[in-house]
Amino acid sequence: ENPGEGRPRPRRVGIMGGTFDPIHHGHLVAGSEVAHLFHLDEVVFVPTGQPWQKDTSAVTSAEHRYLMTVIATAENPQFRVSRMEIDRPGPTYTIDTLREMREFHGSDVELFFITGADALGAILSWRNVDELFELAHFVGCNRTGHRLTDTGLPDGKVSLVEIPALAISSTECRERVRKGEPIWYLVPDGIVRYINKTGLYRDDPMTEDFAE
Ligand code: ATP
Ligand code: MG
Repeated sequence: ENPGEGRPRPRRVGIMGGTFDPIHHGHLVAGSEVAHLFHLDEVVFVPTGQPWQKDTSAVTSAEHRYLMTVIATAENPQFRVSRMEIDRPGPTYTIDTLREMREFHGSDVELFFITGADALGAILSWRNVDELFELAHFVGCNRTGHRLTDTGLPDGKVSLVEIPALAISSTECRERVRKGEPIWYLVPDGIVRYINKTGLYRDDPMTEDFAE
């Protein structure tokens, strides 16, 4: 608060981009930890449409990924989900999302783009890096096995934070489902049930062995 000016401080909004195929506790802990460390008012989870870095044919339909993100974040009043990227035609670029967020919220908001340290390492290769850094502060989350040493990123524009060790990845969750291994406690209970119900990530979605 700014008592002198009688004006509240700008809202601080975190943007957590990801494929969320599926969303897991690593994503949720990262969102929660960054919200705490940076005093964010809310964290908006933004499932990607067609990730330009990933083979599109290999990515689960946007609607499944969106619904899982909604299910996983529903209980947290600070978490919100945006359809912005999945409703935007064509490949997903972070710059479009940040511009749209800025437009939507106006100038009276501080944006924090939350991403994994692995993704952050590639930021310098992105287009419009200077504009990205003007639009948002970047927060890189370290997870086990993705330690960043020298980022070569501009001072003051990027923060690195340690997320309590969670060696969970969506890739591993998908493989575990395919092999019939449990994913309980790696993802929220509602996500286990949604995956079972829909048959996502299974070679033969209709076999009864996996039914609850
Ligand atoms: P995949 O294995 O398919 O690449 P992923 O687990 O990396 O999936 P993404 O949806 O690609 O999940 O991740 C979205 C963002 O969250 C990325 O920037 C990623 O680095 C970060 N992230 C993923 N898992 C974790 C984790 N366990 N702890 C902290 N951040 C994570
Ligand atoms: Mg990844």
